[in-house]
Amino acid sequence: MSVGAMSRGEFRFRGGRLCLDFVATLAGRYRGGTERLGDPADLGRWLRLAMPLDSDAPAASDDLRQAVELREVIYRLVHPATRERPNRADIDIVNTWASRHGFGSQLGADARSMTLRAACPVEAGLATVARDAVDLLSGPWLDRVRECARADCSLLFADLSRPGQRRWCDMKSCGNRMKVRRHRLSHIGTAPM
Ligand SMILES: [Zn+2]
Repeated sequence: MSVGAMSRGEFRFRGGRLCLDFVATLAGRYRGGTERLGDPADLGRWLRLAMPLDSDAPAASDDLRQAVELREVIYRLVHPATRERPNRADIDIVNTWASRHGFGSQLGADARSMTLRAACPVEAGLATVARDAVDLLSGPWLDRVRECARADCSLLFADLSRPGQRRWCDMKSCGNRMKVRRHRLSHIGTAPM
């Protein structure tokens, strides 16, 4: 199956960073959580959508367990509420993944496209996510990692805009919904009885 034939619908790619989009596979964290990696096939599909793997990424249940562990580690390390107190065990898990090797990026014949060639695509995919987390945590953009301002959204995003005032994971959905709500609230006091 080609990547184009797969639906991106259930996954959110709004974070501006690979590792944040991976964290977003558990959505609605303040509403009990919506798990988008419900089974190993979901993990394979997410990896194919998120990065240019050169083959399918067949995942086993143990891969899924480790992927979810890595995801929650990254969540704790990057979240504004917890990142000032990083946990040594979390750092070790990210480093273990980031140090996996045996894969690499390959420039396509058109010299404008890239594929990630790997003997073990799932391992390569999770290692790539972990390396992105290392890069984000040690680089200049960490201060721009925020949680969406819509109270029940919980998605993390890196605000890469020049002004750095972005408040929502997505203007069209969360941003508009908050505006409509504020508009309604501001009219409650003046509404005819
Ligand atoms: Zn949001």
